[in-house]
Amino acid sequence: MDVRNCVRCGRIFNYVTGQPICTDCKKEIEQKFAQVKQYLRENRGASIQEVSEANQVDIRQIRQWIREERITFAEDSMVGIECERCGVTIRTGRFCSKCKNELAGNIEEFTHSKSAEPDKFKTVLPGSDDSDNRLRFRR
Ligand SMILES: [Zn+2]
Ligand SMILES: [Zn+2]
Repeated sequence: MDVRNCVRCGRIFNYVTGQPICTDCKKEIEQKFAQVKQYLRENRGASIQEVSEANQVDIRQIRQWIREERITFAEDSMVGIECERCGVTIRTGRFCSKCKNELAGNIEEFTHSKSAEPDKFKTVLPGSDDSDNRLRFRR
């Protein structure tokens, strides 16, 4: 049995798989997720900052949901996250459609030789928090 401290509340719990978060926190996060989803439906064009403040959700959490493609910001809204490859502003996922296409070939090769580990790719990269402060103009 793998016992760990929950990264969110610090309580000890039996770790199974995925993120080291206890079941209570997971439940809470799911509730927050439903709340945020509803909020975005009613407030199209809200920024990550606004969503965070209105719903009392950590910005990092919101960014993670975006990376996981669980929430999407409106196409005409000014907010988004950066493509992890070229830095272009995207609304959901990890890469822009151009990079997705370019990566498709490589990923195919990759999955042939070695099975992908989705959990590994879902974790928020350390140091990605300061990306809000950087302006990107590349297309
Ligand atoms: Zn917890
Ligand atoms: Zn890109």
